[in-house]
Amino acid sequence: MENYGIDIWGEDNFIIENGMVKLNHASKPALINIVKDIRAQDYKGPLLLRFPHLTQKQIEKLYNLYDNAIEDYHYNGKFHAVFPLKVNQLPNFLHPLIEAGEKYKYGLEAGSKAELFIAMTYNKNNAPITVNGFKDKEMIHLGFIAKKMGHNITLIIEGLNELETILEVKKETNLPCPNIGLRVRLFNQGGGVWAKSGGIDSKFGLSSTEILEAYEMLEKNNLKEQLTMIHFHIGSAMTSIKPLKKALKESGHIYAELKNLGAENLKAINIGGGLAIEYSQFKKSINYSMQEFANDVIFTLKNIALQKNVDEPDIYTESGRFIAANSTVLITPVLELFSAEYEEEHLRLKDNNPPLIEELNSLFNDINSKVALEYMHDSIDHLESLLKLFDLGYIDLEDRSNAEILTHMIIKKAISLLEVDDYDELKRIDNKIQEKYLLNFSIFQSLPDFWGIDQEFPVMPITHLNKKPTRSASLWDITCDSDGEVPFNPRKPLYLHDVNLDKEEYFLGFFLVGAYQDILGMKHNLFSHPTEINIVFENKKMKLEKICESQKIIDILDDIDYDTNEIMSILKEKVNEHDFKTLEQYLNDNNYLKTTWS
Ligand SMILES: *Cc1c(COP(=O)(O)O)cnc(C)c1O
Repeated sequence: MENYGIDIWGEDNFIIENGMVKLNHASKPALINIVKDIRAQDYKGPLLLRFPHLTQKQIEKLYNLYDNAIEDYHYNGKFHAVFPLKVNQLPNFLHPLIEAGEKYKYGLEAGSKAELFIAMTYNKNNAPITVNGFKDKEMIHLGFIAKKMGHNITLIIEGLNELETILEVKKETNLPCPNIGLRVRLFNQGGGVWAKSGGIDSKFGLSSTEILEAYEMLEKNNLKEQLTMIHFHIGSAMTSIKPLKKALKESGHIYAELKNLGAENLKAINIGGGLAIEYSQFKKSINYSMQEFANDVIFTLKNIALQKNVDEPDIYTESGRFIAANSTVLITPVLELFSAEYEEEHLRLKDNNPPLIEELNSLFNDINSKVALEYMHDSIDHLESLLKLFDLGYIDLEDRSNAEILTHMIIKKAISLLEVDDYDELKRIDNKIQEKYLLNFSIFQSLPDFWGIDQEFPVMPITHLNKKPTRSASLWDITCDSDGEVPFNPRKPLYLHDVNLDKEEYFLGFFLVGAYQDILGMKHNLFSHPTEINIVFENKKMKLEKICESQKIIDILDDIDYDTNEIMSILKEKVNEHDFKTLEQYLNDNNYLKTTWS
């Protein structure tokens, strides 16, 4: 039985039982039952299920990793963490995160003015705020106001001009100055896909010369005490720990050098984010354990502090993907199997058929388990020949239709007859016999990283798991764009079940979609976010909270600046009252498809 690599990427968050994917928590509800509960309230289309307990689990894991390492190495510095808002700013995700992090003083990281407003408003007292990214005077002013509000805030400067702006704002406003951090431009580059974040020609950070200049500027302007943090971020989803170790050494020495120059209040190194999570369904791709990662951080910094005779620094992390990814599961209803139109009832056999069609017909009638593979190969060859004959004008459209239907019938029958040992052989011809599954969702909206950077996301059916999946599958979304497809990949093959959608429902789950996808998602064909639901548990009892329905069509049009009153009045003028009522009703519904099972 296929388990879709759940043991590789699943982190014990989900289990397969009685053919269903179940949440491995509290009353262990099956995902299909959660989906049915939601759909019973008339929310159709794709669903985003959020599980706040999984966010909480990751936060606890992160603090435990570092607590363990600090204890094991008798480390004197403290551990702090902030959540980088760019990874997921949505309120339904963020509010539970802030609540779960309160006991750890888990803070927030902001990279833009809008994110800083979220942090200033919702960050709990005493939890740190760090501010990264390019900053203008307004953003720096916001930082000063946040400080006055009582926040423990550090502005991490990316360039000397930002330091100059800090001096200006301080002079002009007389507000208390926030803590200052320096983002250092490291020589050692990260290894992940996003390695551009680090390295000598990186977009971000100060060179050695600039660090020295910054320090002198702070000293000259009596702001030396505000310098508290050194920061780096070498990239996202690091699959190897090596670049991190190098970056730690480099930044550790910069920290120690500055301390020895006289930066008395410098007390922290912020190692950015980059902890990877396992997305692969086939083979582990991360070559370090999370504990190893934390141990390396503590061990390296301890040694540098010892060597240079400075205090062991506090450690800040900004890991986002690690915290957010597994909190969210996307459920997509399957609308159609492409070959469903190739059913026997659609055959239009004639009294006199071309010989190859007759041949296909007898292959279908005579097929048995011994010859299944051979007949399947033959049928595919025949189909190719028949398509050529059609192009040359020797057979008609009815013959062509019969050829396609018969070949599909033979393939289906062959797959059902095959013995387990034949499966390897079958895999060799998967490409030719793949089934196309049409899913009620938009890849551009819900899996933008698949579209943009070929990021894999684990995908599996949430039911039928006690049956062997026999169809090699490619997945199609409902946008009118040929990029809206997850093609069949023979090196990472996806097999799904042969289902009859007139009789049964079939839903696929895409897992680990909680990091970055929500906000990167785009409204291609004007598909907006799916309906979102938080699934929470009180005394093991499940509750559906904060249901946020997929946007109404009228609101989507409003968002892109159409005058919706004008739309209404033009339509009202052009149709009768009865039709207008219908249009109104449709405009107030979301944009996803609504068929029987959708
Ligand atoms: C994006 C970003 C992060 C988060 O990175 P993850 O790979 O999601 O952990 C942390 N810090 C900074 C400065 C970032 O730009």
